Amino acid sequence: TSSTPVPQSERVPVGVDPTRASIARVYDAFLGGKDNYEIDRKVRDGVLAEAPYASHLAYENRDFLIRACRFIAQQTGITQFLDCGSGLPTAENTHQVVQRVNPDSTVVYVDNDPVVMAHGRALLEENENTTLVSADIFNPAEVLDNETVRTHLDFDQPIALLQVGTLHHFEGPADGPAEIMRQYYERLPSGSFVALSHFMDPENEYTAMARKAEDKFRHSPMGSGTFRTMDEIRTLFGDLELVEPGVIRLADWWQDGPRLTPLNEAQHCIAGGVARKR
Ligand code: SAM
Repeated sequence: TSSTPVPQSERVPVGVDPTRASIARVYDAFLGGKDNYEIDRKVRDGVLAEAPYASHLAYENRDFLIRACRFIAQQTGITQFLDCGSGLPTAENTHQVVQRVNPDSTVVYVDNDPVVMAHGRALLEENENTTLVSADIFNPAEVLDNETVRTHLDFDQPIALLQVGTLHHFEGPADGPAEIMRQYYERLPSGSFVALSHFMDPENEYTAMARKAEDKFRHSPMGSGTFRTMDEIRTLFGDLELVEPGVIRLADWWQDGPRLTPLNEAQHCIAGGVARKR
């Protein structure tokens, strides 16, 4: 009845259209989070019906983000992080990972999803080295010229740029993501690092899973999710110097321990790496 209270998790913040799925909320649903609506769970379930292991795209992506951030924080001496398309707060966020290594690390999160902005601001109220900016990550000048970004990051010192699980959501010309990254690289100080991941078409027996998931994502109310080949993903690093082992399946990028079970099909379908600007 109309007097039935709407559960907290279903209440819609101002500026959010509950009839459209959002990338951040669908990703949250895949990760088992609570900050998603029915429309988002429908997108997830539609993909899972065709590609039952698809949640592992999200798990691999998030685990890579954490390993790459820890590596950069521990081994490069970088203390400034620009996290593009940061997503909804989850168990281990970039600032928690890197501030554990160096509490003075500065993190600027950038996203354009109103739910991310609402939840992120609440989470970050207490952390003076961490900021959240609303901007279009596919418009590098908008991010790099943003006043808050310029205030918090020193562009005379190396910066770690994170584009983790973002560029496959660019809907535009096929060479758009490489050009976007070129513009970021051009303006990053020398000695900066980038960590990047992307859905992959592995061009082998797992291609079918990639194609099914791509079709489901792109024709859903979320509307994006392109699977690129390993060669195409490599071009997103431009002429940066790749850190070992280069561009590779995320499952193989400095995993936590020996592999006791074979990779599932989704784990074959997401790749990335870390690179340094000379
Ligand atoms: N980077 C996080 C991770 O790897 O766990 C989250 C990845 S999530 C799949 C992609 C995020 O990018 C979402 O939070 C979404 O809102 C954000 N995003 C997508 N397109 C964007 C755009 N044009 N500008 C800003 N953020 C965007």
